[in-house]
Amino acid sequence: MSEHPEFHRQTEERLLRYAAVTTQSKHFDGTWPTTACQRDLAKLLFAELHELGVRAAYDEARCVVYGWLPAAHVEEDRPIALIAHMDTAPDVKGRDVKPWVLRAYPGGDILLNEAEGIVLRAADYPNLAQYIGQDLVLTDGTTLLGGDDKAAIAALMTLAEYYASHPEQPHRTVCLAFTPDEEVGGLARDLDLERLGARFAYTIDGDHLGWYQDQTFNACEAAVTITGRSVHPATAKGIMVNATDLAVEFLNALPPLEKPQFTDGVDGFYYVTSLQSDCERAVIRLIVRDFDRKRFQERQDRLLEIAHAINERWGQKRVLVEIHQQYRNMGDVLEQFPFLVSDLEAAIRAAGLEPKSEPFRGGTDGSALSFRGLPSPNLSAGYENAHGRFEFVPVPSMAKNVEILIRLTEK
Ligand SMILES: [Zn+2]
Repeated sequence: MSEHPEFHRQTEERLLRYAAVTTQSKHFDGTWPTTACQRDLAKLLFAELHELGVRAAYDEARCVVYGWLPAAHVEEDRPIALIAHMDTAPDVKGRDVKPWVLRAYPGGDILLNEAEGIVLRAADYPNLAQYIGQDLVLTDGTTLLGGDDKAAIAALMTLAEYYASHPEQPHRTVCLAFTPDEEVGGLARDLDLERLGARFAYTIDGDHLGWYQDQTFNACEAAVTITGRSVHPATAKGIMVNATDLAVEFLNALPPLEKPQFTDGVDGFYYVTSLQSDCERAVIRLIVRDFDRKRFQERQDRLLEIAHAINERWGQKRVLVEIHQQYRNMGDVLEQFPFLVSDLEAAIRAAGLEPKSEPFRGGTDGSALSFRGLPSPNLSAGYENAHGRFEFVPVPSMAKNVEILIRLTEK
């Protein structure tokens, strides 16, 4: 049982309130934030911080909310930032979210929507079994929930309430930030690090309570443009150069098993995301991922080598590879600050859980922030089945995260 039963109700009320506010981001089309609706939640959070008596700021243009809990009763202050994102994923419907609470989940299937006959089946989602007896925040089966990442926002706002209403509690300076567009590769680009005022941070995001990440992929995307020569097929002999054929040749030169569907753990991959081609021109788009810096470079070199070999054979520059860097493995930065992970593990243990970690096969805002000078490992927010209609959040996971965050910041 928690030392703080009030966290249960407080996080639950908050998640219900925040989930009902539409904050779906969309794929970048030239403006940040990608959707104006994210400001609705930003405004609400700013007002709530103000109401709690927490010093706060709202950068409306960039859609970022800041809050500061100044240090209390500590000899040596080590300001720490805690960051969560406000947007929800564009993958499924994220408007008109109608969150509700199932008290003391008895096990088995959960009827989400009687009228439409939508059921969350225990057989399809074995993770449900871990939460028997717990209160669960659920969807009505037609939208995502947005517990990713509003479960984290609920925990952070509850932490703010706790420190604001318990001035006797010792803690270091806590700098809060709520940011837009994480789901669409925003990489916290509009977070003003100077204004935030901490040299180290944790992002709070991800599923499964008690997990954390200090490794992410290195990531780049490549566009391979192939120039052919189109002539009438009747008189093509010795003249035509079919760009589609060269594209197939390029693709066949990639290692056949180093693809997302054949890899897991710490193995990297090439992922061909699209191919458009005709005789005159072909464009292959692909992304490259690897945890290891050296192997990541070798993968990029390989793309250039394949292009070079084809060009050599034609005696002409028919294949052009352009590589755009996306984000890097935060582990390369975090290994210089081992206390960030050891502090986090100690906090998780102090809250009564065994910390668990595995390299994250993607990127987080922390990947970018770490390389911008704000080393930022990630603590799980505790949601389940994110980015789907069967997303849910166990209320005790949010309450437990508040305790972990107190342990992390109390000295
Ligand atoms: Zn997230």
